[in-house]
Amino acid sequence: MAARGKPARAAWQAAAERAKSLTMRPDALNSLFVEIDALDGVGPKLRRPLEKLGLARIKDLAYHLPDRFVERRAVANLDEASVGENIIVALTVREHRASSGRGPFRVVTEDAIGNYCTLTYFGRASYTAKKQLPAGERRWIAGRLDQYGQMLQIVHPEHVSEDASTPLGQLREAVYPLSEGLTQGRVAALVQQALKALPELPEWIEPGLLARMKWPDWREALREAHKGTHAAARDRLAYDELLANALALMLVRESNRSQRGTPLSGDGSLRAKLRLPFDLTGAQKRSIGEIEGDMAQAAPMLRLLQGDVGSGKTVVALSTMMIAVEAGAQAALLAPTEILARQHFETLSRIAQGTGAEIALLTGRDKGRARESILMGLVDGSIDIVVGTHAIFQDSVAYRNLALVVIDEQHRFGVGQRLMLARKGRRAPHTLAMTATPIPRTLTLAQYGEMDVSRLDELPPGRQAIDTRVVSVERMGDVVGALARHIEAGQQAYWVCPMVRESESDDLAAAEARYAALKERFGQDVALVHGQLRPEAKDAAMERFAAGQAKLLVATTVIEVGVDVPNATLMVIEQAERFGLAQLHQLRGRVGRGSAKSTCLLLRGPALSETARQRLALMRETQDGFRLAEEDLELRGGGELLGTRQSGDTPFRIASLEQIQKLLPLAHDDARLLIERDGGLAGPRGTAARLLLYLFERDWGVQLLRGG
Ligand code: ADP
Ligand code: MG
Repeated sequence: MAARGKPARAAWQAAAERAKSLTMRPDALNSLFVEIDALDGVGPKLRRPLEKLGLARIKDLAYHLPDRFVERRAVANLDEASVGENIIVALTVREHRASSGRGPFRVVTEDAIGNYCTLTYFGRASYTAKKQLPAGERRWIAGRLDQYGQMLQIVHPEHVSEDASTPLGQLREAVYPLSEGLTQGRVAALVQQALKALPELPEWIEPGLLARMKWPDWREALREAHKGTHAAARDRLAYDELLANALALMLVRESNRSQRGTPLSGDGSLRAKLRLPFDLTGAQKRSIGEIEGDMAQAAPMLRLLQGDVGSGKTVVALSTMMIAVEAGAQAALLAPTEILARQHFETLSRIAQGTGAEIALLTGRDKGRARESILMGLVDGSIDIVVGTHAIFQDSVAYRNLALVVIDEQHRFGVGQRLMLARKGRRAPHTLAMTATPIPRTLTLAQYGEMDVSRLDELPPGRQAIDTRVVSVERMGDVVGALARHIEAGQQAYWVCPMVRESESDDLAAAEARYAALKERFGQDVALVHGQLRPEAKDAAMERFAAGQAKLLVATTVIEVGVDVPNATLMVIEQAERFGLAQLHQLRGRVGRGSAKSTCLLLRGPALSETARQRLALMRETQDGFRLAEEDLELRGGGELLGTRQSGDTPFRIASLEQIQKLLPLAHDDARLLIERDGGLAGPRGTAARLLLYLFERDWGVQLLRGG
């Protein structure tokens, strides 16, 4: 294929240097970015668990907001308290009762009017208790009053003190997210230190809005948010985060508009030679048309292709890349996992065979000669299309004429990463981002506010609904029986074990144990794939399954995105209640990809919460990704203080789903107005807004502004 243009390397380096020198953080924020080591009492031992929670700098601690608050009532005696209540009460120690063996340590106490109450301690806590509670002394105790048989008791009192002032200062106490090795008291003390160090910052919120919402200023809001359930303070902090995001996205779009890209138009000659085993759906044709229109412009395309699982995004990507190749340029396809990169490479190679387009695969694993030869091909233009993981955008990779970047499963990548890609070319490449995540409309704006959107709102013809059933884990025997019949009939199946985070070692053990058990029954028909396997082992397992040699793939959520084996028509998901709805939907999307009838069995634990029951029922009821996402939002939303970090699919740490819905439109309007009036963020409010971008680490927005 002919290719134009010179290697972009020098220009790229210059831009990177310039960006670096221009990203000096404003001094006003310095104290917030100080490492936590600077605080009293933080040594190497505490650093670990703190970092596990993402707490590395003063600002992280200040933003480590409580999950909830314990409300306590001070009572004169236990007659005034009810069982289950959090109380503060003065008790006199009567007796220590060590139990034989591994039983608890008990301290018998008496209140002011002769009621007995046992303080119960397990494990190491007994040692401290012994010292804190000498017989005959009176102590102020804070904790939850329980009943054990006929006896009143408090298990592990949260505070024990000699005078009333400490517990009475804790009538309302923050409960922080913890990790192993941390206590509430420790975290609370560190947070207090951080809050003392907060600087005063100029206001970035529009004054009219601030007054209307009756929001406190930034520093006050942070301090209040740690003191109690101050809705206004929490909202203000959430709004800050939403505003930072909206501003950054808007700066991306502005910068994109002002950049020059390469207009690409193809003559259709390569596309005509593609070996597609099916006709494109109307939605696919329409999307390709929209993309083609964008690419013909000099302004770089910034488009999102959103389509539910199985809607056929891959062929759209391929056709789009062919347009670039027809126009004499290079295209890159970025996938979030090696499994997916390899699968795409194989699909593309098969379909594009005979077109003359040169396609290569590049992942982090390729080393030495093989890698060198691909790098050469990219620089000299002999490779037209490269498929790979983020390795394709490392500094050492240069392109002759990269004009189109396609990002699959785009929600897996941060916006920052997306920008890095955009800077690879001498001119800004056209960008097509694809996602199967059925993002509720409210969140689309948050994550993709800067992009145009094409929707694949039509599934390929002949698809049947997936028969979804919720089955109690107690019926494991029946499930394995059904699986055996399925495999005997010559079909394939997935068995998904929950591993919500790839680091949970218990989960890993469970997956391996399940694999061992199923292997006992099905022998060589079973393969195993999870994130901790060596890459070669992962490939081998996937290949055996894709080729139909393995009939059953035991897997963790590594198969959640993109995996496409149409002959697999049964999926069993263990402990389905542990997954989010969106995630279940993605997983289930691995079956039902051909015209054969597919089944999904959701195994549930013996005891389910009401919400969990509803969520699984919804999975049975619908296969519409948008509906599931909206309902998930609804089911999780209501009144939870909890942030959305745990739920994964939003770019926010502070703002809850509810706050996003409520405040995001305001933040977008506000950001737009600000950029219209002061596009360079140079005026007083603009300067304050820059601080905000740094504070929320959206400073790539500022880089664009200045570096261009
Ligand atoms: P996703 O949108 O989830 O990435 P894929 O691109 O992997 O979906 O496509 C899912 C399956 O549907 C693949 O097996 C693909 O070959 C098939 N497919 C895609 N487009 C069509 C079509 N127009 N008609 C029939 N099958 C199609
Ligand atoms: Mg896909």
